[in-house]
Amino acid sequence: MQSQAIAHIDLAALKHNFLRVKQLAPNSRVMSVIKARAYGHGAIQAAEALVDSDAFAVARLEEGIELRLAGIVQPIVVLEGVMTNEELQAAADYSLSPVFHHVSQLELLLSTDLNKALSFCWLMVETGMHRLGFPQEQLSDALEILNISPNIIGEVGLMSHFANSDIIGDPRNQQQLDVLKQCSDAYKLPTSMANSAAIFSLAESHGGWVRPGIMLYGASPFSDQTADDLDLKPVMRLTSVITAIQDLKAGDEVGYGGDWQANQRCRVGIVSIGYGDGYSRQLSNTGAVIIHNTKVAVVGRISMDMIIIDLSDVAANVDIGDEVILWGDAQLSVDEIAQQANTISYELLCHLNERVKRIYHYGEN
Ligand SMILES: *Cc1c(COP(=O)(O)O)cnc(C)c1O
Repeated sequence: MQSQAIAHIDLAALKHNFLRVKQLAPNSRVMSVIKARAYGHGAIQAAEALVDSDAFAVARLEEGIELRLAGIVQPIVVLEGVMTNEELQAAADYSLSPVFHHVSQLELLLSTDLNKALSFCWLMVETGMHRLGFPQEQLSDALEILNISPNIIGEVGLMSHFANSDIIGDPRNQQQLDVLKQCSDAYKLPTSMANSAAIFSLAESHGGWVRPGIMLYGASPFSDQTADDLDLKPVMRLTSVITAIQDLKAGDEVGYGGDWQANQRCRVGIVSIGYGDGYSRQLSNTGAVIIHNTKVAVVGRISMDMIIIDLSDVAANVDIGDEVILWGDAQLSVDEIAQQANTISYELLCHLNERVKRIYHYGEN
């Protein structure tokens, strides 16, 4: 028995979800998004399992360097690009492909003499999100700089990002897409716009390159469709164990603040996971877990290292050391827990920290 939280990562499920991307966008190349340690699953392991990806995307330079040092050979796009001459040089040294989204980055390009040119570069186009990117009217100047710079070889692509693709049929999606289409028609350049939600719901946006993130990890990008509805398989099963059992009488309070009180004789279990592992404190008095194939409630406040669960429905046969599933079970998806925590699966997955051991397997275990 290991008395700690473990994220069991199923690399076969990851591959299954990647094949879903290929089915949905058969004519596009796939840039698998593995930023933030592959949404908490481990970037190197995810990259190795997603070997059929045509490219990878990370958010930060350091994330790209880590993958290169681990021997990943595909193009690696750095979505946030670079901010200094040193970072630009590092991108070149490690054959990374920074996105150019701001005029300050073009100035770096003009003021640095790279000893190796960058390739597979992308220009971010502002189409409605107002986060990163060049407005349409600045595109021609920006592309001119990329074209004449000896620091860049090969074709540059046009990238943009949806602000509302999780809302199927929202007119703002089509508006954003129309702006990018105008640009790609004008400059005859490849495009990349579709994230997971758009891969499912807006085929017209697939373009040359799709950029799946959350769907690869087997969670749903939509609040009203489950991963199962979308034929995605959960990649992470998060487990821990019962470390203590308490028998309570009516009126006994549990945990900090006594936020939960027994209204009759009952039994609760203490589970070794808490906000110190990245398990959301928002789940206080509202979350659920699976024990012995039964869904039971999280009671009281989440502590740093522990949570408390109600064992009333399973009390007879629960023992110290028994496994508890926090999410990733057929009966309890990370999306359901995210709703209980008033957030999205992305956040719960990314928040799991290094205190949670990752164990990798292929298929059932
Ligand atoms: C994170 C990210 C993605 C992936 O989005 P999902 O919703 O996880 O599929 C795609 N493109 C950009 C620019 C991103 O930042």
